[in-house]
Amino acid sequence: MNRKRVIIVGGGYAGVEALKILAPSGECDIVLIDQHPYHYLQTEAYELIANECSMTRVMIDLVALCLSYGEHVTYIKDTIREIDYESKRIIGQISGHSYDYMLLCTGSRTAYNGATEGLRQHSHGVKTLQSALSFKQQFEQRLYSRLESEGGWCAEPFNIVIGGGGLSGVEIAAEMAHYIRIFHKDNTLTCDNIHIFLIIPHETVLEGMEEYLIKHATKRLLQLGVKIINHSRITSVEEHALIINGSEAVCFDFMIFTGGIVASTLTVGMNVAKNKKSQLIVNEYMRVSEYEGVFAAGDIAELRDPEGKLVPPTAQGAEASGISAAKNILALIQGKPMIRSNIRLKGMMIALGGGYASISLLGWMRFSGMIGYAIKTIIMRGYRYLLHRQCAKGVERIPQSKRNCRMRF
Ligand SMILES: Cc1cc2nc3c(=O)[nH]c(=O)nc-3n(C[C@H](O)[C@H](O)[C@H](O)COP(=O)(O)OP(=O)(O)OC[C@H]3O[C@@H](n4cnc5c(N)ncnc54)[C@H](O)[C@@H]3O)c2cc1C
Repeated sequence: MNRKRVIIVGGGYAGVEALKILAPSGECDIVLIDQHPYHYLQTEAYELIANECSMTRVMIDLVALCLSYGEHVTYIKDTIREIDYESKRIIGQISGHSYDYMLLCTGSRTAYNGATEGLRQHSHGVKTLQSALSFKQQFEQRLYSRLESEGGWCAEPFNIVIGGGGLSGVEIAAEMAHYIRIFHKDNTLTCDNIHIFLIIPHETVLEGMEEYLIKHATKRLLQLGVKIINHSRITSVEEHALIINGSEAVCFDFMIFTGGIVASTLTVGMNVAKNKKSQLIVNEYMRVSEYEGVFAAGDIAELRDPEGKLVPPTAQGAEASGISAAKNILALIQGKPMIRSNIRLKGMMIALGGGYASISLLGWMRFSGMIGYAIKTIIMRGYRYLLHRQCAKGVERIPQSKRNCRMRF
């Protein structure tokens, strides 16, 4: 029998979970294509930015991961540009690849509102590892130059502006505020004139989330000295100042923008049903109905729970949808009926700086503070540990001659 070829495009949360389902079955040849040789743990980005961990802590080696499953799984580093659905071929920057089934998991990017002049040019993002690293380096460089030029005293305020009060905006604001506190306490350069402004369009941060999380996150942010400017829309941005609500100016030394997402650029040229965020509309089996053999999971798709309610773009949603899509691809290969997806978020965990977190799990387990942080850490470390353990099997398969040439994550 002809073995089917499954291509997973994107090795993020959705793609990696799909790989974990498809690879052990041994019933198909799998190619995982990603533009980077690592899976970036975005949910831990706040720790990287706040210098709580090194770059390698937020990466999983995709080459080793694929090798760990054996010869029927291959990793290819390429950036996919186009899909030819008629001939079932995807075209990357480097080469073309044929598929019987394809799972699109290329995630999302920051939604820079085109109408907001200067936003993209003058703000930093954290959606990719490169942007998070460049943000971290530039931030420290700028802060250092300022301290040097002022002889160790921040006579002038150093303002950091964060646009967007969702999960990532809140986590980054809290972690940076905590970092700055430590910086002030521990550093030989004395500077307690650093301010963080969180500019949010709604009444509260974490709009739409549970009241418990909103209350505790707000309290913690205020405790850390973050200034929350609510009911504010950023209307234009210049190099060191932005305008909110068309009139009020806020000066800044550094700006981060986290205000929402749109689907990855891969959906731009796709002639299929999409929502306002350019996310693909998938059916209950995670299938892109317009094309045979094409599935989508994670942030690239509009995810819904079994009641039809929208599921926000999260790592959890991405994982659940990746699993569902992979199971259905496997069902088709085995000639079995597909199963409806059952995407439900188990809760929310929000890191709030310095070993403090607010979590709400399974509808009844709620904690804030050190216990919340401990639970969040155990869950995240568990995810990373299992992947590292699997990668270790892959490393054993790398020929000795090549082992020293590869940088391991
Ligand atoms: C700072 C921050 C904090 C967050 N915190 C949380 C949290 O605490 N909890 C939570 O549940 N969610 C959190 N999220 C959201 C979560 O990270 C995303 O929802 C999740 O990463 C989506 O997973 P995905 O697999 O769809 O996409 P991704 O994880 O983004 O993976 C997409 C992959 O596709 C690859 N790719 C993209 N385009 C191409 C192409 N053209 N060709 C080849 N490869 C391509 C990328 O390199 C990447 O590896 C956070 C996000 C951010 C930015």
